[in-house]
Amino acid sequence: MTAYGGIETGGSKWECAVGTGPDDLRAAETIRTTTPAETIGRAVAFFEREGPVEAIGIGSFGPIDQKLSSPTWGHITSTPKPGWAHTDVGRQIQRRLSVPVAFDTDVNAAALGEHWWGACQGLETFCYITVGTGIGGGGMAGGKLLHGLLHPEFGHMRIPHDRDADPFDGVCPYHGDCWEGLASGLAIEARWGHPAASLDGDQAVWELEARYLALGLVSVLCVLSPERIVIGGGVAHHEGLLALVQRDVLTLMNGYLEASAVVDDIAGYITLPGLGMRAGVLGAIALAQTL
Ligand code: ZN
Repeated sequence: MTAYGGIETGGSKWECAVGTGPDDLRAAETIRTTTPAETIGRAVAFFEREGPVEAIGIGSFGPIDQKLSSPTWGHITSTPKPGWAHTDVGRQIQRRLSVPVAFDTDVNAAALGEHWWGACQGLETFCYITVGTGIGGGGMAGGKLLHGLLHPEFGHMRIPHDRDADPFDGVCPYHGDCWEGLASGLAIEARWGHPAASLDGDQAVWELEARYLALGLVSVLCVLSPERIVIGGGVAHHEGLLALVQRDVLTLMNGYLEASAVVDDIAGYITLPGLGMRAGVLGAIALAQTL
């Protein structure tokens, strides 16, 4: 029986799995992200134990080099994560396991998973945005995963920041108060002094968070005209947040868009992943099957 491997590499953990899709996951393991040598070594050991696999898809935290013609294809590039800048992930996995490897961003992998099996089946142009420790975005346009000069960097777009209302400087090491700098899980923790997960009852936290997310989403909506926006990641799953975001997107658009998908079904238009927290690793398995 043919099987494929999937790896979702994250800044805090790697999810590895073997199978062909959501109904056929034969093995899975979560590996804590430590040093590149140790983390990649444990992933290789997992596939040596649970394989063989036809191919492996990797959906990686970024920024990454996913251009096939590039000598540094398969590398994580300028990440501020200590020890991980300019790390070869793709080629190393390819070489050590002697299998073909597909390499893309974690969010593009998740987008592909949602396209094949989740909330974006039948759609050709949509976005997958993750709001967790950081913020990232990918998706498809015209049925193709979004790539370009590099790959989309939704998290680093600039959004309006009213410093009187929110004097917080933001956490992005490059920009301070970009979208990720103001609205990521790290930003929430730095601004309020507690991790997002422990701020449940504090309405001010979530009203501000919803406002910032909606400001970014309105730009995404206006620039890309996606047929749907899927929002994954740990912060996005916070109870009640999505409803506030949906409300604020409608308020900010102020009736301009006459698209019934948005106006009449905002809950279906901005939605959680159909594959839940497994979108990334299942998307990586989908990526492997595109080779
Ligand atoms: Zn930034």
